[in-house]
Amino acid sequence: MRVLVYGAGQLAQMMYLAGCPLGIEVQAVDVGNDTVVHPVSKRPLDTSLAQAIESADALTVEFEHVPERLLEDASKTEKLSPSMNAILVGADRVREKRLLDALNVPNAAHQVVTYIDELEDCVSALGDKLIIKASRDGYDGYGQWRLLEEGQLPEIKQALSNLDLNTVPLVVEQMVNFDRELSLVGVRDKDGDIKVYPLAENLHHQGQLHVSVAPAPHVTDALQKKAEEIFRVLAEGMNYVGVLAVEMFQCGEELLVNELAPRVHNSGHWSMSGSDTSQFENHLRAVVGLPLGDTSARGPSAMVNIIGCSSFSRDLLKISGCHLHWYGKTVREKRKMGHINVTADSYQALGEKLEALCQYVPNEYFPKLGKEARKLK
Ligand code: ATP
Ligand code: MG
Ligand code: MG
Repeated sequence: MRVLVYGAGQLAQMMYLAGCPLGIEVQAVDVGNDTVVHPVSKRPLDTSLAQAIESADALTVEFEHVPERLLEDASKTEKLSPSMNAILVGADRVREKRLLDALNVPNAAHQVVTYIDELEDCVSALGDKLIIKASRDGYDGYGQWRLLEEGQLPEIKQALSNLDLNTVPLVVEQMVNFDRELSLVGVRDKDGDIKVYPLAENLHHQGQLHVSVAPAPHVTDALQKKAEEIFRVLAEGMNYVGVLAVEMFQCGEELLVNELAPRVHNSGHWSMSGSDTSQFENHLRAVVGLPLGDTSARGPSAMVNIIGCSSFSRDLLKISGCHLHWYGKTVREKRKMGHINVTADSYQALGEKLEALCQYVPNEYFPKLGKEARKLK
């Protein structure tokens, strides 16, 4: 069997690795030049895009910002999962908010802005702490502006003045005073069967995910059920096939959906060692029509992103239950270079292992790690 993935980054690479034992060959499309490449070496394969589409059993994506012309061609073959509509929901915050509201899924109060002077109305309607997001092409906190006090409005309007808001509107959200950030990663197959992983707790630094802990500590059954119900409503509402990640804010016992990722997700990487079936394997199973695998957690685990650096000691592998996943990319500031998965028998032991990990990695890249480790202990 063969699966063609649009996008040739680390997510396609990890899908490739998950496909090997199943006898599923994963090929990747470099969407910058329409070439078909090997997902690990990134070397061009001896096939045209049209031939690769023809010979694939399923087509999927590793990121939502795939050019629409490519999605249209993929969609016509009826082999694309998730659907083009679901991918576009993840790529466009206006569509995303429309879907959340249409399905009555709680999310932050917001307004769509196509004219810069509407920002004043947003302050009156939503309050004076706002987060302003470009509706397309944002990730890792790029394409966002924070209004924390009213006096900042003129400088933000200035910063936004060169954007064409008619083509790419802004989504302006009320700043949510959340307790913590959680995500639910789950998978739905072609028959409509759903399996979800336990909620993960996500720690961000400068808009970027640094650490996930799964299962998130202190999650009541009621909260997990609430998250699963949100997942079900969204996945069924989109007739979704594949892995879907739902990012949420926890406010007391309430959950507000922040955004959707129509793909395997960084906050699900822990599943490579922390669950019976990784999110990558389950995504492949779903898109080719195989039965879904068990998504329960084996015990507490954590995922630590390695961001913008490659100079750390591989001796961290001395810590038992510690696994390195290296993406083989050239170093760039803020670039996700790899991640470390850590599993343990208890949260206490997980905290100790994360604390031990701090000795091996440069502190400036992992400012939240020590704090998270101490919290778990
Ligand atoms: P990702 O890399 O997850 O795709 P992104 O650039 O698409 O990120 P968001 O997830 O929308 O952006 O926002 C990044 C982070 O900013 C969130 O994880 C959260 O910490 C913070 N944030 C976003 N929206 C809000 C909000 N309405 N209130 C408070 N904080 C917010
Ligand atoms: Mg996003
Ligand atoms: Mg996000």
